[in-house]
Amino acid sequence: RLPLVGLTGGIGSGKTAVSDELAKLGAGIVDTDLIAHQITAPGGAAIPLIQKQFGAEFIDPSGALDRSKMRSLVFADPQARKSLEEITHPLIRHETNKQAQKLIEEKAPYLVFVVPLLIESGNWRPLLDYLVVVDCPEETQIERVMHRSKLPRNEVEAILKAQTSRAERLALADLVIENQGTLNQLKAEVLSLHQKILQIQKDRSS
Ligand code: ATP
Repeated sequence: RLPLVGLTGGIGSGKTAVSDELAKLGAGIVDTDLIAHQITAPGGAAIPLIQKQFGAEFIDPSGALDRSKMRSLVFADPQARKSLEEITHPLIRHETNKQAQKLIEEKAPYLVFVVPLLIESGNWRPLLDYLVVVDCPEETQIERVMHRSKLPRNEVEAILKAQTSRAERLALADLVIENQGTLNQLKAEVLSLHQKILQIQKDRSS
Protein backbone atom coordinates (compact mmCIF):
# COMPACT_ATOMS: atom_id res chain seq x y z
CA ARG A 1 0.00 0.00 0.00
CA LEU A 2 1.26 3.46 -0.81
CA PRO A 3 2.13 5.86 2.03
CA LEU A 4 -0.61 8.25 3.16
CA VAL A 5 0.73 11.56 4.42
CA GLY A 6 -1.20 14.31 6.21
CA LEU A 7 0.02 17.88 5.80
CA THR A 8 -1.14 20.53 8.21
CA GLY A 9 -0.01 23.76 9.85
CA GLY A 10 -1.47 26.99 11.16
CA ILE A 11 -2.85 29.75 8.97
CA GLY A 12 -0.16 31.23 6.73
CA SER A 13 2.44 28.64 7.79
CA GLY A 14 3.02 27.61 4.16
CA LYS A 15 0.91 24.48 3.56
CA THR A 16 0.09 25.50 0.00
CA ALA A 17 3.71 26.44 -0.72
CA VAL A 18 4.78 22.97 0.49
CA SER A 19 2.07 21.05 -1.36
CA ASP A 20 2.80 22.96 -4.59
CA GLU A 21 6.44 21.85 -4.35
CA LEU A 22 5.49 18.27 -3.52
CA ALA A 23 3.19 18.24 -6.55
CA LYS A 24 6.10 19.28 -8.76
CA LEU A 25 8.06 16.34 -7.40
CA GLY A 26 5.26 13.99 -8.41
CA ALA A 27 3.34 13.49 -5.16
CA GLY A 28 -0.42 12.95 -5.37
CA ILE A 29 -2.06 15.92 -3.64
CA VAL A 30 -5.59 16.07 -2.25
CA ASP A 31 -6.25 19.57 -0.89
CA THR A 32 -9.32 19.49 1.36
CA ASP A 33 -9.35 23.28 1.65
CA LEU A 34 -9.64 23.55 -2.12
CA ILE A 35 -12.43 20.95 -2.09
CA ALA A 36 -14.29 22.90 0.61
CA HIS A 37 -14.13 25.96 -1.64
CA GLN A 38 -15.22 24.06 -4.73
CA ILE A 39 -18.35 22.60 -3.15
CA THR A 40 -19.42 26.09 -2.07
CA ALA A 41 -18.56 27.80 -5.39
CA PRO A 42 -21.28 28.50 -7.99
CA GLY A 43 -22.79 25.15 -9.04
CA GLY A 44 -21.07 23.38 -6.11
CA ALA A 45 -22.77 20.36 -4.55
CA ALA A 46 -23.27 22.09 -1.18
CA ILE A 47 -25.07 25.15 -2.60
CA PRO A 48 -28.62 23.74 -2.93
CA LEU A 49 -28.36 22.12 0.51
CA ILE A 50 -27.13 25.33 2.13
CA GLN A 51 -29.88 27.29 0.44
CA LYS A 52 -32.51 24.86 1.73
CA GLN A 53 -31.14 24.82 5.28
CA PHE A 54 -30.20 28.49 5.75
CA GLY A 55 -32.17 30.41 3.12
CA ALA A 56 -31.37 32.07 -0.18
CA GLU A 57 -29.85 35.08 1.58
CA PHE A 58 -26.72 32.98 2.24
CA ILE A 59 -26.10 32.54 -1.47
CA ASP A 60 -24.55 35.55 -3.23
CA PRO A 61 -25.63 36.80 -6.70
CA SER A 62 -22.93 34.73 -8.40
CA GLY A 63 -24.40 31.55 -6.90
CA ALA A 64 -21.58 31.01 -4.39
CA LEU A 65 -21.85 30.71 -0.63
CA ASP A 66 -21.77 34.17 0.95
CA ARG A 67 -18.74 33.40 3.07
CA SER A 68 -18.64 36.49 5.24
CA LYS A 69 -22.33 36.18 6.07
CA MET A 70 -21.98 32.50 6.92
CA ARG A 71 -18.84 33.18 8.95
CA SER A 72 -20.71 35.72 11.10
CA LEU A 73 -23.58 33.29 11.62
CA VAL A 74 -21.56 30.24 12.61
CA PHE A 75 -19.23 32.33 14.76
CA ALA A 76 -22.19 33.36 16.91
CA ASP A 77 -24.23 30.15 16.69
CA PRO A 78 -22.65 26.72 17.36
CA GLN A 79 -25.84 24.93 16.28
CA ALA A 80 -25.67 26.64 12.89
CA ARG A 81 -22.02 25.63 12.62
CA LYS A 82 -23.02 22.05 13.28
CA SER A 83 -25.76 22.18 10.61
CA LEU A 84 -23.31 23.62 8.10
CA GLU A 85 -20.73 20.93 8.88
CA GLU A 86 -23.38 18.22 8.54
CA ILE A 87 -23.82 19.45 4.97
CA THR A 88 -20.21 20.08 4.01
CA HIS A 89 -18.25 17.34 5.78
CA PRO A 90 -19.81 14.34 3.99
CA LEU A 91 -19.41 16.10 0.63
CA ILE A 92 -15.76 16.91 1.38
CA ARG A 93 -15.15 13.33 2.50
CA HIS A 94 -16.74 11.95 -0.66
CA GLU A 95 -14.71 14.19 -2.97
CA THR A 96 -11.51 13.51 -0.99
CA ASN A 97 -11.99 9.76 -1.44
CA LYS A 98 -12.77 10.19 -5.11
CA GLN A 99 -9.62 12.24 -5.78
CA ALA A 100 -7.47 9.85 -3.73
CA GLN A 101 -8.81 6.89 -5.70
CA LYS A 102 -8.03 8.63 -8.97
CA LEU A 103 -4.46 9.44 -7.87
CA ILE A 104 -3.95 5.80 -6.85
CA GLU A 105 -5.13 4.68 -10.28
CA GLU A 106 -2.70 7.15 -11.83
CA LYS A 107 0.09 5.45 -9.85
CA ALA A 108 1.08 8.35 -7.59
CA PRO A 109 4.08 7.25 -5.46
CA TYR A 110 2.32 8.48 -2.28
CA LEU A 111 -0.65 10.65 -1.32
CA VAL A 112 -0.58 13.92 0.59
CA PHE A 113 -3.79 15.14 2.21
CA VAL A 114 -3.65 18.87 2.93
CA VAL A 115 -5.94 19.46 5.92
CA PRO A 116 -5.80 22.86 7.67
CA LEU A 117 -7.69 21.65 10.76
CA LEU A 118 -6.28 18.14 10.86
CA ILE A 119 -5.36 18.24 14.56
CA GLU A 120 -8.75 19.69 15.47
CA SER A 121 -10.64 16.93 13.64
CA GLY A 122 -9.68 13.76 15.45
CA ASN A 123 -10.75 11.31 12.76
CA TRP A 124 -7.82 11.97 10.41
CA ARG A 125 -4.79 10.80 12.37
CA PRO A 126 -5.51 7.03 12.39
CA LEU A 127 -5.78 6.97 8.60
CA LEU A 128 -2.30 8.39 8.06
CA ASP A 129 1.14 6.84 8.02
CA TYR A 130 2.85 10.17 8.49
CA LEU A 131 1.84 13.54 9.85
CA VAL A 132 3.85 16.46 8.49
CA VAL A 133 3.51 19.86 10.15
CA VAL A 134 4.61 23.08 8.45
CA ASP A 135 5.89 25.43 11.10
CA CYS A 136 7.15 28.98 11.46
CA PRO A 137 7.09 31.60 14.25
CA GLU A 138 3.65 33.09 14.93
CA GLU A 139 4.90 36.56 14.09
CA THR A 140 5.84 35.28 10.61
CA GLN A 141 2.37 33.73 10.19
CA ILE A 142 0.75 37.04 11.18
CA GLU A 143 2.85 39.09 8.78
CA ARG A 144 2.24 36.71 5.86
CA VAL A 145 -1.52 36.60 6.34
CA MET A 146 -1.80 40.39 6.87
CA HIS A 147 0.08 40.83 3.63
CA ARG A 148 -1.71 38.14 1.61
CA SER A 149 -5.28 38.65 2.80
CA LYS A 150 -5.07 42.39 3.57
CA LEU A 151 -6.42 41.78 7.06
CA PRO A 152 -5.69 43.94 10.11
CA ARG A 153 -3.35 42.45 12.73
CA ASN A 154 -6.06 41.95 15.38
CA GLU A 155 -8.17 39.83 13.00
CA VAL A 156 -5.24 37.60 12.11
CA GLU A 157 -4.35 37.25 15.79
CA ALA A 158 -7.96 36.24 16.55
CA ILE A 159 -7.85 33.49 13.88
CA LEU A 160 -4.54 32.24 15.26
CA LYS A 161 -5.96 32.12 18.78
CA ALA A 162 -8.94 30.04 17.65
CA GLN A 163 -6.67 27.40 16.07
CA THR A 164 -4.74 24.64 17.83
CA SER A 165 -1.60 26.06 19.40
CA ARG A 166 1.75 25.73 17.70
CA ALA A 167 3.05 23.56 20.55
CA GLU A 168 0.14 21.11 20.36
CA ARG A 169 0.56 20.75 16.63
CA LEU A 170 4.31 20.18 16.88
CA ALA A 171 3.82 17.59 19.62
CA LEU A 172 1.79 15.42 17.22
CA ALA A 173 4.07 15.78 14.19
CA ASP A 174 6.11 12.91 12.79
CA LEU A 175 8.03 15.37 10.64
CA VAL A 176 8.32 19.14 10.78
CA ILE A 177 9.00 21.40 7.83
CA GLU A 178 10.57 24.63 9.02
CA ASN A 179 9.30 27.50 6.90
CA GLN A 180 10.84 30.60 8.37
CA GLY A 181 13.45 31.18 5.69
CA THR A 182 13.26 31.92 1.99
CA LEU A 183 11.14 30.00 -0.51
CA ASN A 184 14.37 28.50 -1.88
CA GLN A 185 15.21 27.10 1.54
CA LEU A 186 11.70 25.70 1.72
CA LYS A 187 12.21 23.98 -1.63
CA ALA A 188 15.27 22.18 -0.27
CA GLU A 189 13.34 21.05 2.82
CA VAL A 190 10.51 19.77 0.68
CA LEU A 191 12.89 17.82 -1.53
CA SER A 192 14.33 16.11 1.52
CA LEU A 193 10.81 15.30 2.78
CA HIS A 194 9.95 13.80 -0.61
CA GLN A 195 13.04 11.61 -0.54
CA LYS A 196 12.31 10.49 3.02
CA ILE A 197 8.80 9.38 2.09
CA LEU A 198 10.05 7.47 -0.96
CA GLN A 199 12.63 5.78 1.26
CA ILE A 200 9.94 4.65 3.72
CA GLN A 201 8.08 3.09 0.85
CA LYS A 202 11.22 1.35 -0.39
CA ASP A 203 12.01 -0.02 3.07
CA ARG A 204 8.46 -1.28 3.42
CA SER A 205 8.37 -3.14 0.17
CA SER A 206 11.79 -4.76 0.61
P1 ATP B 1 -3.65 29.24 4.76
O1 ATP B 1 -3.84 28.32 5.90
O2 ATP B 1 -3.96 30.64 5.14
O3 ATP B 1 -4.31 28.81 3.50
P2 ATP B 1 -1.03 28.22 4.03
O4 ATP B 1 -0.53 27.50 5.24
O5 ATP B 1 -1.50 27.41 2.88
O6 ATP B 1 -2.07 29.32 4.45
P3 ATP B 1 0.60 29.60 2.09
O7 ATP B 1 -0.60 30.08 1.36
O8 ATP B 1 1.45 28.58 1.47
O9 ATP B 1 0.17 29.16 3.56
O10 ATP B 1 1.52 30.83 2.51
C1 ATP B 1 0.96 32.02 3.05
C2 ATP B 1 1.56 33.23 2.32
O11 ATP B 1 2.94 33.34 2.65
C3 ATP B 1 1.49 33.12 0.81
O12 ATP B 1 1.28 34.40 0.29
C4 ATP B 1 2.88 32.58 0.45
O13 ATP B 1 3.28 32.96 -0.84
C5 ATP B 1 3.76 33.22 1.52
N1 ATP B 1 4.92 32.38 1.89
C6 ATP B 1 4.89 31.08 2.29
N2 ATP B 1 6.13 30.65 2.60
C7 ATP B 1 6.96 31.67 2.39
C8 ATP B 1 8.38 31.87 2.52
N3 ATP B 1 9.20 30.89 2.95
N4 ATP B 1 8.88 33.07 2.20
C9 ATP B 1 8.08 34.06 1.79
N5 ATP B 1 6.76 33.97 1.63
C10 ATP B 1 6.19 32.80 1.93
